[in-house]
Amino acid sequence: MVERSRAVVLLLQGAGRPLHRLVVRQGFRLANRNSALGRNWAALEASQWWSAEALRVEQWTKLQRLVLHAFNQSPFYRLAMEDLGMTPHDIRSPEDFARLPIVDKQTINGQRETMVAQQFPRDRLIKTASGGSTGVPVSLYHDPGFVAAYRAVKLRNFGWAGWRPGDAWARLWGAQFDVAPHQQLKQQVWDGLTRVMVLPCWDMSETTMTEYAGRLRRFRPDVIEAYVTPMYHFARFLDARGIRGIEPRGIICSAEMLFDHQRDLIQRVFGCKVFNRYGGREAGDIAHECPAGTMHLNAENYYVEFLRDGRPVAPGEPGEIVVTPLDLFGMPLLRYRVEDAGSPATGSCVCGRGLPGMAVVEGRIQDLITLPGGRSLPGEFFPHLLKDFPVRQFQVEQDRPDHAVLRLVRGEGFTDDNLAYLLEKTREYTAGTLDVTVEFCESIPLTPTGKFRYTISHVPPVFIPVRADSRV
Ligand SMILES: [Zn+2]
Repeated sequence: MVERSRAVVLLLQGAGRPLHRLVVRQGFRLANRNSALGRNWAALEASQWWSAEALRVEQWTKLQRLVLHAFNQSPFYRLAMEDLGMTPHDIRSPEDFARLPIVDKQTINGQRETMVAQQFPRDRLIKTASGGSTGVPVSLYHDPGFVAAYRAVKLRNFGWAGWRPGDAWARLWGAQFDVAPHQQLKQQVWDGLTRVMVLPCWDMSETTMTEYAGRLRRFRPDVIEAYVTPMYHFARFLDARGIRGIEPRGIICSAEMLFDHQRDLIQRVFGCKVFNRYGGREAGDIAHECPAGTMHLNAENYYVEFLRDGRPVAPGEPGEIVVTPLDLFGMPLLRYRVEDAGSPATGSCVCGRGLPGMAVVEGRIQDLITLPGGRSLPGEFFPHLLKDFPVRQFQVEQDRPDHAVLRLVRGEGFTDDNLAYLLEKTREYTAGTLDVTVEFCESIPLTPTGKFRYTISHVPPVFIPVRADSRV
């Protein structure tokens, strides 16, 4: 079966990219014509052009429906509202809604089962986990309706970066751990058929980056999606080597703060616009940059508050981001503190979309772990590795090229086997070049900047010197 699929991939590639693109595009349309994903996506493509007022009405209607559902179904929210002497009918304005308690990662980790909607079929809940923005892993439940909405908004946002169904799509991304070889092969075949190329970013050595450059030049992606730090590292490498010829229409960067110097270099090396995306695994893609450069909130799917001392900030002012995913019914999540800071934008965008804008002020920053022998490991590795274990908080600090300290605040049920596994995976992905000392802590005191920087390296990245003649 796999061999036959491989032959089809080769045949399609042989027949040329336009035909492959057409086949994938038609296949995508047929597969999604009557699906929840297809319906959600079509609706979102239309509603982005509605007026700001029409979008506010839609958002508020969805919010009221969710609050009613949470009150009726979730013991946690029923109790929270009863404590406040409120029923869903008392929530008639944003100020009323803001009386509900904010939930954070600790609340979710402690109250997860009481937050779940009681009549929601348990076998339809999908457990998911995130490394978070501040080194506090969280695990929670999604449901199929939320996943359809989550994926639909992704497709709309991909479109802003120039993607259409059937286009070639490359991802410089964190690979899953422990995927069986036959599953890996199946995924590769499926990716080949659907014009997707995944480049795992856990080893960004010069050898790997040279290989990736070659593969991307042959693949000719229309859009690239990437973690910020590996993409910036890769762009610096290409620049230093004077490698050109990878020319996507757009690059989507996410999962970490994107700084101007990183954006500028990536844009220069690839000759296209970088689109910043804001979101996380726990809630989905909350905001995404449009071609005109505004970070638009995906307002039909998320109700977002920016707060300081519990009150909404004025446009342009920074505040902590509190989000309510409007399509998550299996485990309603009202007023979730993401632990990032952002500010609401003023005015409308020249692109014509009625969706409000925002700016991310503080979010996850990941240092690159530079290893002996030209290897490097994106800091994103650690939250990815630790998210599935009972860890309350963690911090990784590299003091020498061959040594790092892993500080762990263990949660209930953390075992010696868990620790052995974490160390074994770190050894595997660093090729045994990093000696890790583990320190168990009661808490990890964080400085204000350390809050978002919990993979810290004091070893500067060894970049290949930038050649003067490689500059454009
Ligand atoms: Zn716009």
